Amino acid sequence: MKSCYLFCGLLLCLLLRASAVSVAAEQLNSQAREGSKQAAHKNRPPLQSTSLYFLPLTSIRPKGWLERQLRIQADGLSGHLDEVWSDVGPNSAWLGGTGEAWERGPYFLDGLVPLAYLLDDAKLKAKAEKWVNWTLTHQGADGSIGPVVNQDWWPRMVMLKVLIQYQEATDDPRVIPLMLRYFAFQARELPKRPLQDWGKYRWQDEVVSIFWLYNRTGDPSLLSLAQLLHEQGYNWKGQFDDFEYTKKTDRTILNGSGAALPDRAMQTHGVNNAMALKMSPVWSLFSGSAEDRKAIYQQVKMLDQYHGIPNGMFSADEHIAGTDPSQGIELCAVVESMYSYEQIEAALGDPVFADRLEKVAFNALPGTFRDDMWSHQYDQQPNQIACTRGVRHWSTNGPDANLYGLSPEFGCCTANMHQGWPKLVSSLWMGTADDGLAAVAYAPNEVEAEVHGRVRVHIVEETEYPFRGNVRLTMNPATPVSFPLKLRIPAWATGATVAVAGSPVNGVQSGTYLVISREWNKGDRVEITFPMQPRVSRWENNSVAIERGPLVFSLKLGETWNKLEGDALAPDWEVRPTTPWNYGLELDPARPAAAIKVVEAPIGQYPFSGDGPPVELIMKARRVPEWQEVEGSAGPLPESPVKSRSPDEQITLVPYGAAKLRITAFPEIVQDSSSAMQH
Ligand SMILES: [Zn+2]
Repeated sequence: MKSCYLFCGLLLCLLLRASAVSVAAEQLNSQAREGSKQAAHKNRPPLQSTSLYFLPLTSIRPKGWLERQLRIQADGLSGHLDEVWSDVGPNSAWLGGTGEAWERGPYFLDGLVPLAYLLDDAKLKAKAEKWVNWTLTHQGADGSIGPVVNQDWWPRMVMLKVLIQYQEATDDPRVIPLMLRYFAFQARELPKRPLQDWGKYRWQDEVVSIFWLYNRTGDPSLLSLAQLLHEQGYNWKGQFDDFEYTKKTDRTILNGSGAALPDRAMQTHGVNNAMALKMSPVWSLFSGSAEDRKAIYQQVKMLDQYHGIPNGMFSADEHIAGTDPSQGIELCAVVESMYSYEQIEAALGDPVFADRLEKVAFNALPGTFRDDMWSHQYDQQPNQIACTRGVRHWSTNGPDANLYGLSPEFGCCTANMHQGWPKLVSSLWMGTADDGLAAVAYAPNEVEAEVHGRVRVHIVEETEYPFRGNVRLTMNPATPVSFPLKLRIPAWATGATVAVAGSPVNGVQSGTYLVISREWNKGDRVEITFPMQPRVSRWENNSVAIERGPLVFSLKLGETWNKLEGDALAPDWEVRPTTPWNYGLELDPARPAAAIKVVEAPIGQYPFSGDGPPVELIMKARRVPEWQEVEGSAGPLPESPVKSRSPDEQITLVPYGAAKLRITAFPEIVQDSSSAMQH
């Protein structure tokens, strides 16, 4: 049955694209309707209705550079991790073996399942299905799932995320009954064995899966279970209502009793905080509380104000670490923030969160991988002048934390990093409350979904965004159909224009969703232009970073990569600089675009690579001699503006993700009149 749906989907797609006989398309259309695979699920009362909702996995397929990026990922560690890392090898307890029995198997699957189905890669699907099948065929008589040797609730929360994606991709009829039995088991057990440790701080991620199942079954006991998790789980909203963690943490945060991290360490833990972004928005779907809907704004404000760094993230290495751009952020926190912003956007429909999703996805995510995605860092730094083994001023992490490798510092990121790109693909489009479609984030893709009156629509999105500002949508409805098309206009996109069939659309406003309601016909074209003038943002000590569209730009340092020990396929690397880094920028903040020359080039085999990046910014700079290295990192930024007697130089900035050694936050140079006379 599964293969039938896949076959029908493929055939339907081909027919639609080939401007086929509409009768044939209509017949297939009605067949596809019978499968639940493509049917999106809105919130079922009493859950609050939302303006946006997720489309089922595989409704959106990556194209262009994004498809290439997923293929790089599949050809890199994500497609081969089980072959080189025993923690997710054949002896995993999540495959019935005697090996790792906690979070690493489910983490790996949370990215491997969507990667495999989005690429429709038979080999990867076979790998993923082996794991999912073990869980589906080894449920305990009491309803429990997972390895019996480890009863922690937390890794099961991750496995539930895996199962809902797998169900959407395959329609496997075993998933929903298994989840119902598991949640009934947990509802009986939780009063006796309440949430603790990681599960207590990450409970909201299970609520996402509970609501997913409730929307498909209407079983009211699921909402009671969600309430129980809410009662036992940590109240992140309370933490940010009165935020006490306004300073960089240090190793004293780990002081406490017992084997687990003390509460204060859990509350300042970077990955916990990234996951917790979604807590209040997700919970608001049940509570209906305006306070819960508003809480995320305060949460993001506090993290930005006290720990914000220029790549879209807050610092945490591995506990929150202040605004110095030489502090790090862990890869798990990057991919978990992306997943949170995707959930927040669906729950609240405010485009500001999709802006942030893109900033993290197009900067912090690629900036912490080697081009071929065979190595990654644990902690990345916006100002990262050397990735070497040694003491750095992290809050609590150790000497390996910013190496590129298989599992520098700790293996959580090695297991968890795979979800980043695939879940971005799945969030590019969402359904709307009024049965239309919304372009939530931009990248090349095609989407196929049902709109008004369950008419199937196929839209091809051609773009080189985020490197360019032009997006072209070609609409292919099965029959002419009226529905609202919502287009996110990013907050930075002042002066954006939209045209339908060559006619400009009025009312385009940055920081909103533009709604175009009309009858759509086959071949209708929507042309979107986002102006991409460079602009300046301000960071620690009044330093400046240069942004253009959703991309942040960095000075790329000359890099020497030295192989350290490790697996031959996935070695660890040190990276040392070969060029100076301590530059300040000369610019007119009121008119930054005037002093910056934009140079575009074709997108290369590796979209985020320092080897021929798709866009470069050329501008004037001067060395700042007093800005020096401290313990392997760029030392504290001098307060801007800064005077420099160094000569003018021309420097080239590249996308953050293309610079594996980089400076992103720079001192701002003011002209020194005495030096001007000397020169
Ligand atoms: Zn991690």
